[in-house]
Amino acid sequence: MDCLREIRGKQAHDPMFMEKMNTTSSSWRCICVPGPLIVGAGPSGLATAACLKEKGVPSVVLERSKCIASLWQLKTYDRLQLHLPKQFCELPLMGFPADFPTYPTKQQFVDYLEAYAREFGIEPRFNETVSRAEYDAVLGFWRVKSVGIKGEVMEYVCRWLVAATGENAEAVVPEMEGKGEFGGDIRHTSLYKSGEEFRGKRVLVVGCGNSGMEVCLDLCNHNARPSLVVRDAVHVLPREMLGRSTFGLSMWLLKWLPIRFVDRLLLIVSWFMLGDTARFGLERPRLGPLELKNLSGKTPVLDVGTLASIKNGDIKVCPSIKRLKRFAVEFVNGETDSFEAIILATGYKSNVPSWLKEGEMFSEKDGYPRRPFPNGWKGENGLYAVGFTKRGLLGTSMDAKRIADDIERCWKHDAKHRTAFTRSS
Ligand SMILES: Cc1cc2nc3c(=O)[nH]c(=O)nc-3n(C[C@H](O)[C@H](O)[C@H](O)COP(=O)(O)OP(=O)(O)OC[C@H]3O[C@@H](n4cnc5c(N)ncnc54)[C@H](O)[C@@H]3O)c2cc1C
Repeated sequence: MDCLREIRGKQAHDPMFMEKMNTTSSSWRCICVPGPLIVGAGPSGLATAACLKEKGVPSVVLERSKCIASLWQLKTYDRLQLHLPKQFCELPLMGFPADFPTYPTKQQFVDYLEAYAREFGIEPRFNETVSRAEYDAVLGFWRVKSVGIKGEVMEYVCRWLVAATGENAEAVVPEMEGKGEFGGDIRHTSLYKSGEEFRGKRVLVVGCGNSGMEVCLDLCNHNARPSLVVRDAVHVLPREMLGRSTFGLSMWLLKWLPIRFVDRLLLIVSWFMLGDTARFGLERPRLGPLELKNLSGKTPVLDVGTLASIKNGDIKVCPSIKRLKRFAVEFVNGETDSFEAIILATGYKSNVPSWLKEGEMFSEKDGYPRRPFPNGWKGENGLYAVGFTKRGLLGTSMDAKRIADDIERCWKHDAKHRTAFTRSS
């Protein structure tokens, strides 16, 4: 506590003060951050740091992995491209290079993010996992604990805390009866790179979101023999329609037309282009694609060729899994098929409840802000959330700008007081 008081005193005279306090224990250090502390160096953390920097507010970014955008660099498959056209994926203040294609590759997106971090001088503190963050009401500061790869503990003290750990922080791995019996490779898509290593093998892909569908196509392209578990109804839309990206067209139509009308239009055009997807085992949900996205956050699949492989029988559609057996899977319809590997395209979840100790802003249940979009970005006591809107990088940009505006106001207000204090002292 004395250490914190000392920090506050020094900080009052120097807005850029950041000092490492060596304490009696050599493996514990306390750092005072005068500006905001951002947890996570993915696109959301970078966008927020850049918007703050532009307003003259310095921030510190903590990242658990060894690089920026670790989801994109370490946990995605080789053939990944942005699912949405580039104009909907740009971060604030810096666009994509003009020569990038409409759907940049994963490497191009990573190159863009690296350039973005360089442009705004963002240098995250890597290999620091935030294990706990708590508001200290007595001090009026957040106390944030991080653990390094060798177990070294740091405590940061800051006035503003920005959660930017993402909607995809941890892989969701479902329990499956007989898992121990299976004997073959079972892995989450976060560990899948390419179909090359599955050449000639029978592979079951579980989950039919964008990742599951794309992994199936990748397996086909590498002469593996994929089957796809489709448990729930799903909207599959062509990635482009009427000469425009389906996403761009939808956004444009929504400016003038009610959501149900736009949904109806999307489904009619999809029917003409793709046919009746239910005939191939892909039933459509009762609600239209945009209405469903708005209500539940469930993203429609933008088809990049997988449906053609399903139609021609290269990918078999299967119902839910009942249990795993030795190199085989029994399905709920009673059929059993043999497989050498299982890829779980079962999604990700937020990890906020595991490290942020507060009961108001974030739901314990799913790790998302309780207040729905567009009001989930701001909590109490200088707490913010960026990138939890279920609206991809567009949502990230909106959050980042709002957060920077909000913090800038307090920062300038504080700066006035600091100056007055310094002059009078
Ligand atoms: C396969 C795939 C394709 C996608 N394609 C698109 C697309 O085309 N367009 C689009 O708009 N969106 C897309 N998305 C959505 C995607 O979530 C965003 O593009 C983007 O990565 C979100 O950025 P983020 O910074 O919020 O989260 P992340 O990119 O997940 O970054 C969060 C960072 O926080 C770090 N972190 C987590 N916990 C801690 C901790 N306790 N301490 C310190 N650091 C921590 C993580 O290591 C990570 O680096 C896609 C997602 C996936 C999975």
